[in-house]
Amino acid sequence: MSFAQAIVENVLKLAEEKGAKKVSKVLVEMGELLLINPEQLEFCFQVASSGTIAEGAVLELEFIKPHIECLLCGKRYDEPIAICECGGIIKVEGGKDMVIRKIEMEV
Ligand SMILES: [Zn+2]
Repeated sequence: MSFAQAIVENVLKLAEEKGAKKVSKVLVEMGELLLINPEQLEFCFQVASSGTIAEGAVLELEFIKPHIECLLCGKRYDEPIAICECGGIIKVEGGKDMVIRKIEMEV
């Protein structure tokens, strides 16, 4: 629930600043490592936004892949792992951010 609430709170704050009457669409970038369940987030978003000007807004999610690379050989991975096959240490960057990219609203 906390992610959905954070999104709704930020959306409402921005919408208020712009003097919007209604929020129709929200585009959020989600790091894959946050392990968000899209359906659950969508549901929580609808609950958290009900009774606000963001009620009924479409929530669009875009999942961002983390950058995972071995510090020793430079091999890249799609999933975070403990150690590279060469024995090198793995560096993980990104993939844990939540960014509100775009808000469509009616003023
Ligand atoms: Zn390596």
